Amino acid sequence: MYHDAVGQFDRVAELMGLDKNVAARLRVPQKSTIVAFPFRRDTYKDVETIFGYRVQHLTTMGPTKGGIRYAPDVNLGEVAALAMLMTWKCAIVGVPFGGAKGGVRIDPMQLSRAELQRVTRRYTMEIINVIGPEKDIPAPDLGTNEQVMAWLMDTYSQYVGHAVPAIVTGKPPALGGSVARREATGRGLVFLIPQAANAIGLDGNGLDVAIHGFGNVGLYAAIAAQQAGHKVIAVSDISGGIYNPDGIDVPSAQKWVQEHKYLEGYPEADHITNEQLLGLECDVLIPAAVQGVINTDTARDVKARIIIEGANNPTTIEGDEILREREVFIVPDILANAGGVTVSYFEWVQDVQKYFWTENETVARLREIMTKAFDDVYSISISENVDMRTAALIKGIKRVADAKLVRGVFP
Ligand code: NAD
Repeated sequence: MYHDAVGQFDRVAELMGLDKNVAARLRVPQKSTIVAFPFRRDTYKDVETIFGYRVQHLTTMGPTKGGIRYAPDVNLGEVAALAMLMTWKCAIVGVPFGGAKGGVRIDPMQLSRAELQRVTRRYTMEIINVIGPEKDIPAPDLGTNEQVMAWLMDTYSQYVGHAVPAIVTGKPPALGGSVARREATGRGLVFLIPQAANAIGLDGNGLDVAIHGFGNVGLYAAIAAQQAGHKVIAVSDISGGIYNPDGIDVPSAQKWVQEHKYLEGYPEADHITNEQLLGLECDVLIPAAVQGVINTDTARDVKARIIIEGANNPTTIEGDEILREREVFIVPDILANAGGVTVSYFEWVQDVQKYFWTENETVARLREIMTKAFDDVYSISISENVDMRTAALIKGIKRVADAKLVRGVFP
């Protein structure tokens, strides 16, 4: 994943004629932390060694910002790639952060609540010197949620001796979390459907949407899509997918998952595999689970005319080429899922100012930023005659490179 992220950067840097000194600085992360710490399960039998990571790609723009993922196979390369993508993403929507990402190599679905809390608090202590409200601000990602952010905030606050809500975003509103943060990434994806449809001459109303992944991003994308008048014909999670050509009852599927953990066994739809979901006849496909799912094996089967990337890096470089040949319109991750970091930025601003906004204000500002970012990227794609992913990278890299050049070199 890291090589893909760097390869993509190199290609675009060359296309833009980017200053080679700046390019050399941007292709590597500025700070990477690896920790290994002890962890005891509830049985108190063995002591396991758990690996954790925090990578800060760019400290030029302001504090760094990025999620923390808990996954059994997370590694330094993956976290470093995601930190780099966060840098471009923040620059595309114009929020004053550099990119970061963290990870803990553990399967959260196998942990009790107490175990999850212990892992979170210990990991936070391990990285406590590299994070801070003016330094590096974590957020939820794959396998983490509002509760994990609350424990992280509490651990940091205990350490410094007073409450520091601005240390994380995506925390519960009771602790200074922003209203509409939970829904922000999914909502942001759906805001872009009409513009994407317009770009290929399709009526952007009442479209058939299939969503891969039913966690924070996938679930709230499904809810937002239904509210916007689209038909969600399929959703999936790690246990498989559900399909109903007349539309899934999203609140009922959400309730099923709350009670049974997975979509498996959900009675009110047909069951399909994740691969079948990716190949469904639909207008819009939203991959919102894990990286690399649209690849040489699956890209040729995609029938959607539009892909809006909710997950980070859901399309491999080879998958991307196949989709481009087939003229599928892709709204790339660094633009499409930037709603999350945008409302995280709003949350940080509100925490720092200790002045909170209404839901209407938050959602209206999110919509304004997302739709403008789409227009900017789309204009670059037309003027430079490049695909949307390349155009988004040009916009993100240019903003960061301009900042780096004016800051100069220390000492
Ligand atoms: P999450 O843990 O809340 O949900 C992940 C979902 O994907 C779950 O439904 C899970 O069952 C499913 N899943 C996991 N592995 C799968 C597999 N192999 N096949 C099919 N489904 C699988 O995570 P999330 O926060 O929704 O994040 C999802 C993606 O979106 C990640 O790539 C993340 O980096 C990205 N993202 C998240 C946010 C955010 O605000 N949470 C913001 C931007 C990008």
